Amino acid sequence: MTLTIFRCGECGRGAFPEPLLCSRCGSDGFVTASVDRGVVEHTTRVVNPHHAVLATLLVAPEVRVVAALRNGAFAPGETVQVTSDPDVDGRVAYVPASSGSEVQEEERT
Ligand SMILES: [Zn+2]
Repeated sequence: MTLTIFRCGECGRGAFPEPLLCSRCGSDGFVTASVDRGVVEHTTRVVNPHHAVLATLLVAPEVRVVAALRNGAFAPGETVQVTSDPDVDGRVAYVPASSGSEVQEEERT
């Protein structure tokens, strides 16, 4: 039950999803790192259509992700389990995995 984030191979700055270039040093080399927890910073309740609760989570220094909170009430400042596995049950924060490798080029005519 983890989320894969990215770290700059030059300066170590974290990011999610994988950026094209590091926002600190401009490098384009990244390595992956796994995180399994995040701290809730803000929550937003989406009334329609599914009554979802979204949160901004701090998962590593300077790395924030938007997650869907599942199965419970979460308060700002609380540490929660983070996963990118859509099938995990329980009281978790779900973040869809970065899909950079699945980006398709648009055809232009
Ligand atoms: Zn960097």
